[in-house]
Amino acid sequence: MESVIVHYQEIALKGRNRPWFVERLVTNLRQVLADLDVVRVRALMGRIEVVLGPDADWDETRARLGRVFGVANFSRARRTGRDLDELAAAILADLDGRPPRSFRVTARRADKAYALKSPEIERRVGGLIHAARGWPVDLGNPELNVRIEILPREAFYALDRHPGAGGLPSGTSGRVLCLLSGGIDSPVAAYRLMKRGCRVRFLHFHSYPILSHASRDKVRDIARLLTRYQLGSRLYMVAFGDIQKQVVVSAPPPLRVVLYRRLMMRIAERLARAAGAGALVTGEALGQVASQTLENLGVIDSVVTSLPILRPLVGSDKNEISDEATALGTYPISIIPDQDCCQLFTPRHPVTKARRGEVEAAERGLPIDALVAQALENAEHEDFSFPADAGAGSP
Ligand code: ATP
Ligand code: MG
Repeated sequence: MESVIVHYQEIALKGRNRPWFVERLVTNLRQVLADLDVVRVRALMGRIEVVLGPDADWDETRARLGRVFGVANFSRARRTGRDLDELAAAILADLDGRPPRSFRVTARRADKAYALKSPEIERRVGGLIHAARGWPVDLGNPELNVRIEILPREAFYALDRHPGAGGLPSGTSGRVLCLLSGGIDSPVAAYRLMKRGCRVRFLHFHSYPILSHASRDKVRDIARLLTRYQLGSRLYMVAFGDIQKQVVVSAPPPLRVVLYRRLMMRIAERLARAAGAGALVTGEALGQVASQTLENLGVIDSVVTSLPILRPLVGSDKNEISDEATALGTYPISIIPDQDCCQLFTPRHPVTKARRGEVEAAERGLPIDALVAQALENAEHEDFSFPADAGAGSP
């Protein structure tokens, strides 16, 4: 029977929380593979074994495992007895007809009571393979690295190794609410927090029916794509068009964008608290657009009093963010033209250095509390899960 041996990020998982992290990782692995032919997923002395059934689709399994946070690397492996002759024979049978230019054996003992130390295991098994086939040994840069892991009751060997997604297992860092615009940046910001173990809920402000439903469709597609990493997501949709209309009639044009943002933040904070989220997340980067100067960020931040605002891209260049969005797969969705709600009624020359007093004065002409309450009352949400029929769990 074939298995996958999953190694997790050792350093991140040290300490008292370790069993809990591993348990979470096992649960996440079970869920991401739920509709594939997988017999069992179990923690096994510092690694996780995924036992594949006969119909497991390896390409799909590999693609999915590559998205699971907390995984350092994983290998397709076979189980044998711990006797080195048996191990070498199994490896040779497996490699029949595939002579590598060079090879080496790398051994790890999870069972420190095993009679031989790792270098000795490497020498012996390497020697057996070399004697049988004559393949040259290259310790530094071998074409084939045969990895052996000795456990108390069995051994595994693997002929390949795939990089994992890194980060921390989804669900180990609590919940956050990410303001998701449909642009390039905010999906990358959401991904960064997912990678650090957060469950990320999404919040989109739209101006439908004043504008088309394009932004809502885009954000749904982005949420669906990002759900492949955290397996369950909730997307809140909040109608913002009427609020913008009120801002337009009562506030000086240069201040509009900052006022929109402050209203978004107030709504987001309330929603986050109701959802049990511990922080807000945005895709802002310093200096990228007029609303993202230090002065404006300060004026926007000051309306949020009970939660931190996380801006994981604050020090990134646009091209760096775009590259990340491309790797993530969100870029092609993000560049589909839409009518962003913030372009609606946006002045040609927005203020770049908003002064808090001036902004607060402009807000005195607006029924802020009522606008926020109304937005929250009409908020809708949609849930996503991966695999699609697995049930959302707790997004
Ligand atoms: P993005 O590419 O993420 O849209 P951007 O460079 O276009 O960012 P802005 O449009 O000014 O910058 O938005 C800054 C941040 O504010 C976004 O990253 C997002 O977190 C939030 N935001 C903006 N518009 C919306 C919206 N309609 N719904 C939800 N969040 C939004
Ligand atoms: Mg935008």
